[in-house]
Amino acid sequence: MGTAAERPGSDGEGRMLRNARLADGRTVDVHVRGGAIAAVAAAGSPVPAGFDRDDLDGWLLLPAPAEPHAHLDKALTAEAIPNPRGDLAGAIEAWTTAAADGRLTEENMIERAAAAVELLIVHGVTAIRSHVNTTPEAGVSGVQALREVRRRFEGLVDLQIVALTGKPMAGTDGAEGRAVLGAALEAGVDVVGGVPHLDPDPVGAMEVAFAAARDAGLPVDLHTDETLDPEMLNLRDMARAVQRTGFEHPVAASHCVSLGMAPPEIQAAVAAEAAAADIAVITLPQTNLYLQGRDHPAATPRGLTAVDALQRAGALVAAGADNVQDPFNLVGRSDPLETAALLVMAAHQSPEAAYDMVSNGARRAMGLAPVHFQPGDPADFLAIDAPSVRAAVADAGMSRRVWRRGRPVASSRQHTRLFA
Ligand SMILES: [Zn+2]
Repeated sequence: MGTAAERPGSDGEGRMLRNARLADGRTVDVHVRGGAIAAVAAAGSPVPAGFDRDDLDGWLLLPAPAEPHAHLDKALTAEAIPNPRGDLAGAIEAWTTAAADGRLTEENMIERAAAAVELLIVHGVTAIRSHVNTTPEAGVSGVQALREVRRRFEGLVDLQIVALTGKPMAGTDGAEGRAVLGAALEAGVDVVGGVPHLDPDPVGAMEVAFAAARDAGLPVDLHTDETLDPEMLNLRDMARAVQRTGFEHPVAASHCVSLGMAPPEIQAAVAAEAAAADIAVITLPQTNLYLQGRDHPAATPRGLTAVDALQRAGALVAAGADNVQDPFNLVGRSDPLETAALLVMAAHQSPEAAYDMVSNGARRAMGLAPVHFQPGDPADFLAIDAPSVRAAVADAGMSRRVWRRGRPVASSRQHTRLFA
């Protein structure tokens, strides 16, 4: 595999991506101006004066993937911070012990996060939302680290930073947690997060998050119901909180594992409430297949949310890769096509629906405009040498080219030889 990240080329008047094959089978030239699609014409159209040209030679051109749920502060620590139990509690314990031992320096975090971002871009990702621990133990050093990473990758990727608060957050016991959230907002985060499902007062923790987000004018993205206990349905509480308070910024609920364990009529009812409250649900197959179900040796649950029930209710369901090679998940290639393949196998989605969940679905969950190859759409693309979306998801080949707002940001070409 040969990989070379290119710095964005000259801006010129615009750029034309020639001989691109779209998923609907058309071969087209895509004209890009000012970071957006200006026109999509039949292949062979004249190149406008002053335009740069990229010849795609019939490669499949897709909306660029986005990563709606990363933990860049934790990425690539699988060897340094082992989790012998393999479950969520074991991962949290391993992580907090490492942090308390001073094994996590800001400098080390910046280098690892930067390496993880590079991997994502090379695989096609042009927008990332990363949660970062903002607990009394961690303070805001993770926020500062990710802001530095964002600065390094300016022009190459959009990076949204979510304040991942700890517990407890409500009442007098939550004063310290709320103070760190305040410091994180001051340091500059883009989204308010949290872990209400681990909090002694889940609804109280949610209310703290919504109130802080309302004051700051920011979206909310909460780790929600990351448990196999079907009785825990904070997603419903969240939907009701949104409706009750008239919260007007975008809301996402990540994981929602327990909904996948609930009976179909409960799934349908909660999904309807989530859809009515316009909550985007982000499912995270890698980490939840890894962490959940270790106490169920027979018919081990998959740990995914009720994807079909949510979609039937009209809720937006996006998907991400979550943890990458850390105590929460030992594997993961930072490739949205890996996530899409897992959605096909573990959530029974079609390859096309799965790809939509890791690209336009993820973009919408992050508050970004989707790419439908219409004039005015953002020029964020992944070109891949594959005959179809299904084959792209199945093979996940590494002959790929990536554009963000019309500028090339990565290019890889796979070389294979068989000595027969
Ligand atoms: Zn997470």
